[in-house]
Amino acid sequence: MPLCRLIYYSTVREGVDQTDVSNILKSAKRHNIADHLSGVLCFDRRYFLQVLEGARETVSATFGRICQDSRHRSVTLVNFRTIDERLFPDWDMTLLTDSHITGEICRRFSGSDKFDPAAFTDDGVVKFLRYLTTHR
Ligand code: FAD
Repeated sequence: MPLCRLIYYSTVREGVDQTDVSNILKSAKRHNIADHLSGVLCFDRRYFLQVLEGARETVSATFGRICQDSRHRSVTLVNFRTIDERLFPDWDMTLLTDSHITGEICRRFSGSDKFDPAAFTDDGVVKFLRYLTTHR
């Protein structure tokens, strides 16, 4: 089964707060450890941006569940490709919040001070996530 990386972003539903995000993380960790999925979840109160890495069918099935989740909307796929190795091997689904996602870092990778996942190119979003995980 090929190893794959999937990246998407979505809009946080009104009313979703830190407690909801903690619940999402608990559920994600439980499933992802069992499913050998690793990745990163960014949350800045307006958007989620997530990368998932693992076996193609598992990543696809997980993304299917995530798309149905009412805690966010407008789920937009950025890319889904086969990979040789994981760039985000953290099984614990690292959470990055607005304290990590600074205007300076956003400007460096997307050209805008604001965290706007739609502004990233395919390569830019991977570089942005790598930078955040290695410099947090
Ligand atoms: P449980 O983990 O038992 O659900 C726990 C609680 O979460 C429920 O009691 C309920 O209060 C709430 N809940 C569950 N599903 C929903 C829903 N669809 N809408 C609203 N509330 C709900 N899951 C993963 O497995 N891996 C991931 O990496 C992952 N990332 C996510 C990222 C985001 C931005 C979001 C919004 C969700 C993510 N999820 C992830 C959760 C996923 O969408 C499913 O909710 C979860 O996989 C369902 O697991 P479960 O059936 O065991 O429910």
